[in-house]
Amino acid sequence: MSAVLVDGKLVSQVLRDKMKCRVDAMLDRGVKPGLAVILVGENAASQVYVRNKVAACDSIGIQSTEIRLPVDVPERVVLENLVQLNNDPTVNGILVQLPLPAHINENLILETISPEKDVDGFHKVNVGAMVTGNAKFYPCTPHGIMMLLDFYGIPIEGQHAVVIGRSNIVGKPMALMLLEKGATVSICTSKTADLSMFTRQADIVVVAVGKPNMLEASMIKKGAAVIDVGINRLENGSLVGDVDYQSALTVAGFLTPVPGGVGPMTITMLLENTIRSSEMSRC
Ligand code: NDP
Repeated sequence: MSAVLVDGKLVSQVLRDKMKCRVDAMLDRGVKPGLAVILVGENAASQVYVRNKVAACDSIGIQSTEIRLPVDVPERVVLENLVQLNNDPTVNGILVQLPLPAHINENLILETISPEKDVDGFHKVNVGAMVTGNAKFYPCTPHGIMMLLDFYGIPIEGQHAVVIGRSNIVGKPMALMLLEKGATVSICTSKTADLSMFTRQADIVVVAVGKPNMLEASMIKKGAAVIDVGINRLENGSLVGDVDYQSALTVAGFLTPVPGGVGPMTITMLLENTIRSSEMSRC
C-alpha cells in the first residue's frame, strides 16, 4: 500500500482561485484588502517567510505593506508601529513575524495588535474565542490542516487524533480544532513516556516537533492520516519534515509531503483571514 499524497500546493491553488474571485469583487466596489507585515532583524528564514507572504498577497490582489525594523529596534518603536497600523483603515490584517529578538516582549507585541486585525489568530481574545468555539480568526497552520483534512474527505468526528507538540501556534490550537470537530484528542510532548503507544492507536497524527524522522512507519497505524508540520533543514541543504517519509508512505493512508504539504496552506489561510477581516470590517 502507498499512502495518498495530501497535496497542499494543489489545495492552496484551488482555495486561492476562489479567494481571488472574492478580492476581485471587493476591488470592483473600490475596496482593497490590506495586510501589514512587521519584520524585525535579518533572520534568513523569517525573511523568506515574509517574502512568500507578500508574494502570495500580490498574486491575489491583496495590498501588502512590509515594515522592516533593525534587530536592535527599541520595543517602544515596534509598539508605536502597531498602534499606527491598528488605526489605519486601509490595513485589515497585521502580522509580526516571529521569532522576535530577545529584548522584545513577544506577548506584549501580540496583545497590542487589535484583535480585529489579528490575522495570525494569536491574540488572547482570539485564542479565548477559539476555546469557546466562536473564533473570528483561527491560527493559520492548524486552520490549513483542517482544510486539507476536509478537502481529502478524511473523517474527524469519532476518530482518535494524536497531536505531537504543544506550541501556542501549532500544537495547542490544532488539538482544540480537532476536538471542536468531534475527534478524541491526545496531545503528546517531549514529556510523553511512550509516544508510539499513542501514535499506533491514532487515526490522525499531526506532528509539529521540529525533529527529522521522529515519526517512523512502526509508530503509525495502518491507513492513518499523517500530517507533517515540521520544517527541518538538513546539513546537505535539503528540507524535510518530522516524519520518516519513505517508510511512512508504506503504512499511512494519507501523508503530507515536506515541502508542499502544510507549508503552502499556512500562507493560504493568512490570505483567507485577511480577506475575512476586510469583509467583516465592512459589515
Ligand atoms: P516548538 O518548538 O514551539 O514546539 C515543539 C513541540 O514539540 C514542543 O511542544 C515539544 O514538547 C515537542 N517535542 C519535542 N521533542 C519531542 C519528542 N521527542 N516527542 C514528543 N514531542 C516532542 O515548535 P512549533 O510548534 O513552533 O513548530 C514545530 C515544527 O513545525 C517546527 O519544525 C517548525 O518549523 C514547523 N512549523 C511549520 C509551519 C508550517 O507552515 N509548515 C508553521 C509553524 C511551524 P515540550 O513542550 O514538552 O518541549
